[in-house]
Amino acid sequence: MPEGDTVFLTAKRLRAALAGKELARSDFRVPRFATLDLRGQVVESVGSYGKHLFIRTPTVSIHTHLKMEGSWRVFHCGQRWTKPRVTARVVLSTEEVEAVGFSLGTVDVVRAGDEHRIIDHLGPDLLGPNWDAAEAVRRLERYPNQPIGVAVLDQRNLAGIGNIYRSEVCFLRRVHPATRVGDVSDLLALVDEAHRVLTEAVRKPPRRPLAYGRTHRPCQRCGTPLKAGLLDYTAPDYDRVVQRERGIYFCPHCQPVPPM
Ligand SMILES: [Zn+2]
Repeated sequence: MPEGDTVFLTAKRLRAALAGKELARSDFRVPRFATLDLRGQVVESVGSYGKHLFIRTPTVSIHTHLKMEGSWRVFHCGQRWTKPRVTARVVLSTEEVEAVGFSLGTVDVVRAGDEHRIIDHLGPDLLGPNWDAAEAVRRLERYPNQPIGVAVLDQRNLAGIGNIYRSEVCFLRRVHPATRVGDVSDLLALVDEAHRVLTEAVRKPPRRPLAYGRTHRPCQRCGTPLKAGLLDYTAPDYDRVVQRERGIYFCPHCQPVPPM
């Protein structure tokens, strides 16, 4: 699942291809926007917030979310697409290139200036210009009983972390992902670590995971074989279990399981 760094880098590539260019053609292959035609509009900017991507013209902002399988690719006009045509959801063409969004989880178009409706509820963006570590800590502390490995995935606390980086950040801070938020000794350091790791990931991609996906491989600090597990939870302000939990990876020595 793409995380904040992937979305940030996708925005960068799309910006290089589209910003300042006039659209020669637009094709929205989702029923709601099938008749929308942005031909003649100039792409003003491309940006990201957490895992949300925005392509902006003077009148609208195209909001997409990659979710599980989504990706944006840029092709020269006439070049063969590298993914099945039927999975294309949005095509934006200039005179030179075609930017194609494949298997996107969300495609939405809002009026220019209405982006805030999409991002208002989110926590600070780890890769944004206004990253605010103290605010992320304040949001995390609202639910002290929640496992930290769950809390950092909640985009309302801080935006940009997915399943890979929650294991990475917990490993780097020697915190077991099941540890209650209220029992994490230095939340600010953990949040700073998340910021550091994602920032590094966009500067020098691809980043090799230290813990994620490394079951049975030796811990790079102490040599103990890493373990995988699952973290069950119900989000604190939801009535129902909303998340089918995905795997956590940790070192049983450096990150001991917290007492229940
Ligand atoms: Zn270890």
